[in-house]
Amino acid sequence: MSTTEFTGSKQLSKSKPKSEGSKKVENSAPGVSTVSVHAGEARQKSLNSITDPIVMASTFTFENTQSIIDFIENKEERGEYGRYGVPGERVVERKLAALEGAEAAVLFSSGMAALVGLFNAKLSAGDEVIFFDECYHRSREYCRKHLSRFGIVTREVKTGDYDAMESAITSNTKMLVSESPTNPHLSILDLDRFATIGKKHNVETLIDATLATSYNLQPIEFGVDYVMHSATKYYGGHNDLLAGVVLGSAEQLQPVLELRGVMGSVNTPHNCYLLERGLKTFELRMKRHNENGQAVAQYLESHPTVSRVLYPGLESHPYHEIAKQTMRGFGGLITFEVADADWKATAKVVDAAKLARIAPSLGGVETLIEQPLVMSYWGYTPEDRASFGITDNMVRLACGIENSSDIIADLEQALAVLK
Ligand SMILES: *Cc1c(COP(=O)(O)O)cnc(C)c1O
Repeated sequence: MSTTEFTGSKQLSKSKPKSEGSKKVENSAPGVSTVSVHAGEARQKSLNSITDPIVMASTFTFENTQSIIDFIENKEERGEYGRYGVPGERVVERKLAALEGAEAAVLFSSGMAALVGLFNAKLSAGDEVIFFDECYHRSREYCRKHLSRFGIVTREVKTGDYDAMESAITSNTKMLVSESPTNPHLSILDLDRFATIGKKHNVETLIDATLATSYNLQPIEFGVDYVMHSATKYYGGHNDLLAGVVLGSAEQLQPVLELRGVMGSVNTPHNCYLLERGLKTFELRMKRHNENGQAVAQYLESHPTVSRVLYPGLESHPYHEIAKQTMRGFGGLITFEVADADWKATAKVVDAAKLARIAPSLGGVETLIEQPLVMSYWGYTPEDRASFGITDNMVRLACGIENSSDIIADLEQALAVLK
């Protein structure tokens, strides 16, 4: 098979972010869609197929003993056994690395499997990890509840409090972790500052950039060591698969790759194909998610029955300035509060949605709506919910790629139930 033709995309510049629709040609590197369609793929594929065949094999045959020895001695790149990787997986990894501007990517069977794989490969008994507290609750739960059993200490500091994060570093600290944007508050990190703290103390840094994707934000440009995405969301894009990825330097990711082969948290060939196919339209979908997010957020902000809207593209958002400086767009996720509503009145609005479907998740073509108090925090005490910043009248809307006028019309009729 011939080598791939497209290896890199035009990177977002950390000093000069390109707004959408910018006409300026900065370099001759291929654009995002060219990369997402072509990168990582062989030009001429098996059986002359234009698409990558789905190779449904758990094991790969050797012609003879010499070919096994050649493979072990790295003289031939080929498959061995499914747990160590399938052909479609490598294609998707190269594609995602090209989109991120990262040297390497390791694909996992879910976003959580990616986080677990990275933490397990990098942390040992006695090590400490520090989180910004708005990070995905399952990743904090994994560290607090499970890594603690193996002698790893988890600390949490308030999101955006860089001095607190720096003060929490000890000689045992091995990783600083945050999400950006966070969920559901959509706080945006000053990645320069975050990465600088890590470098100053010789501690590795990880950003979960699921809500942004490489289209809107590229943390590696700022000096962050690892970027993680739940590819279940915008990368897969169609609410039909689970996958996750960790990106960074090949050297730093080598132990992660090796551990994945032992843990077995790998994707099936069919899942890899679905992800590869979803990625073909990545830029088209992201543009629409960004447009819909902005249009719907502006509509909600002007609505008399909505008391608060959190969306980084709104001037009212506490992190709007840093978002504008570092991101290309702000995605499809919006959090808003229904005016003068208790949790039951808020649930009425959610239940009245006709186009938006009631479900957790985000990043797919379908618009999803949910009430965080019910979907993610049911059974928590009011004090605990308050400490997470989860209010009774909060609604999370993940705009899909439908026409924004239809999403807005749906919200208009849903909010009207309270009149
Ligand atoms: C969904 C999500 C995850 C977990 O990903 P899965 O693919 O569901 O395992 C992690 N971080 C963020 C920000 C997410 O939205």
